[in-house]
Amino acid sequence: MIDFHCHLDLYPNPYEVIQHCDREGVYVLSVTTTPKAWHGSSKLVKGCEKIRTALGFHPQLAHERHNEIDLFDELLPQTRYVGEIGLEGAKDWKPFMAVQKKVFAHILKSSTISGGRIMSIHSRYAVDEVFNLLIKYPDAGIPVLHWFTGTKTQLRKAISIGCWFSVGISMLSTKKGRAIVNEIPKDRILTETDGPFVKYRSKQLMPWNVKYAVTELANSWKCQLFEAENQIVSNFRKLFVDI
Ligand code: MN
Repeated sequence: MIDFHCHLDLYPNPYEVIQHCDREGVYVLSVTTTPKAWHGSSKLVKGCEKIRTALGFHPQLAHERHNEIDLFDELLPQTRYVGEIGLEGAKDWKPFMAVQKKVFAHILKSSTISGGRIMSIHSRYAVDEVFNLLIKYPDAGIPVLHWFTGTKTQLRKAISIGCWFSVGISMLSTKKGRAIVNEIPKDRILTETDGPFVKYRSKQLMPWNVKYAVTELANSWKCQLFEAENQIVSNFRKLFVDI
């Protein structure tokens, strides 16, 4: 099982969650929300072979934390993963779009200079703006759009510029989300929970609950659960060959 977008450090009991992941053999991309969170978060998973920490700069925090950009650059050589990064266009954050774009562009530029990174990207209500910057920095790495909520036209554009997608049970629980997932090439999909922020059946999602998403994918692909699982695992392996 692969949870490609999870905020492990934000669970109230991260050590227990990590131990459970280890026991279940869940691969986790542990995304962070600020450069300052990097050290603590990566320390949490020291020695866990299947968990990787991504260096992040959440767009909802860009206006408060933009002075951490130098720290971001300093830490970047330590990881192949960047996230959660991107842009947020909902009304509470739209007023800060200029600084968000500045931070996101800086990250893409730094990633380009460093030879590319695997990137977990937030694009809510700002899909076109995210595309414009990804197109401007084509060598920044592999963009994995997390919880994509754009239109089908935007989806086709995302596919054409080389984006991958991490999809979770929330996305797969809506008709619109399922319609989008049906049009994503099977070899560009990964699974995610976005825990601990997401609830499903009134329970906080844990990384191993990513199996709900795999089950839905199997339904949507009209295949067996193990076939859907194999597809996700082979995608995950291919991602590392591609960068
Ligand atoms: Mn997230």
